[in-house]
Amino acid sequence: MGELITVHYGELALKGTNRSEFENILINNIKKALSGESYEKIEKRQLRILIHLNTQSNVDIIIKKLKTIFGIKWFSYAISCKPDITEIKDTVLQHIQNDGKTIKVQTNRADKSFPSTSMEINKLVGQVLYENKFKIDVKNPEVRISIEILKERANIFFDKIAGLGGLPVGSSGRVLCLLSGGIDSPVAAWLMMKRGCTVDYLHVHPFASSEEVKNSKISELIKKLNEFSQQSSKLFILPYHELYKKTFEIGNRNELVVFRRFVLSIANIIAKEHGYLGIVTGDNLAQVASQTLQNLSTTNEVSTLPVYRPVLTYDKEEIIDIAKKIETYEISIKSYRDCCSLVAAKHPATKVKLEDAKEIEEKIEINKIIEKTMEKEEIINI
Ligand code: ATP
Ligand code: MG
Repeated sequence: MGELITVHYGELALKGTNRSEFENILINNIKKALSGESYEKIEKRQLRILIHLNTQSNVDIIIKKLKTIFGIKWFSYAISCKPDITEIKDTVLQHIQNDGKTIKVQTNRADKSFPSTSMEINKLVGQVLYENKFKIDVKNPEVRISIEILKERANIFFDKIAGLGGLPVGSSGRVLCLLSGGIDSPVAAWLMMKRGCTVDYLHVHPFASSEEVKNSKISELIKKLNEFSQQSSKLFILPYHELYKKTFEIGNRNELVVFRRFVLSIANIIAKEHGYLGIVTGDNLAQVASQTLQNLSTTNEVSTLPVYRPVLTYDKEEIIDIAKKIETYEISIKSYRDCCSLVAAKHPATKVKLEDAKEIEEKIEINKIIEKTMEKEEIINI
């Protein structure tokens, strides 16, 4: 009679009057993710979204895509049949794979005129599964099959599939992420998306031309991250060149902090011009010399916008686990000539004082450097 996927969104349901706006953003994101896929229609129904499938629907691909959408707590594949016990048994058998997992059948009989009670239906369907070599466990099942008996049809729900959780991208405003090409900053961008932010990117590169960035892992990382936002994003590309020319005047030990302040200053200019509400970095406390509390404080001073550092307190393994899960890890570890490899110091200072950074910047005329760098700004859509 018809197959469907029911999508549940937990946290969204708590959002009071904003709820319908959140639901609409989520539905929109689902439609974008499934563009190109065949289905009958998508509708909102009592705190859930129903995706009605058709005979051409590729259920495996649709499930895979639903797993990349923030705001979905869980979803489940369901099938409708006539409210008749033989039909129900056949439908369950046809649509469940025996992968050795233990199963429990649970029925909810909304139509009390149905000839068998919920308990009897559980037993009858459980019996036929048992006869077909499925393992039954009513106490701690690995898979639950839920049967809902309505007057005009029976709905059979198969196992809950976990979604990403969080909030739908587009529900929290726009931020600008400083993307370096390392492991941490893509994970930081992803975590901000998880809280509903739309993320665009800024990358400072050491090449003679921005063309090298366009064909690099930076673009590849952004494409991968876009899979979680169901939309394209902007990349602001700026050269390191103007600052790099002053390397010898800056001095090895302070170079990293001066570089960070430079990137963050540029990010502030761009964010204000384009209306971003915050800046995101992959900073991780004490992971490397530039990321001590003192250096972060000295760096942060150039920013009047909030700087979000979602991986600040994570252990490296925790960041790597996420990077592997979201498939940015393999891209991040590809070799790339990033600016940090040009920032030469083997032993950068772990405690750069604000006065010292400012003194160096005055000497090298940082404002002019920033101005010249901004003249070379390029914006591309990925
Ligand atoms: P990542 O893995 O993200 O590169 P990291 O541990 O290597 O982080 P750093 O290289 O010290 O850390 O950089 C800290 C943060 O500064 C990065 O996470 C990123 O947000 C920002 N950043 C560093 N280099 C650049 C760059 N070339 N362009 C834009 N942002 C950068
Ligand atoms: Mg880095």
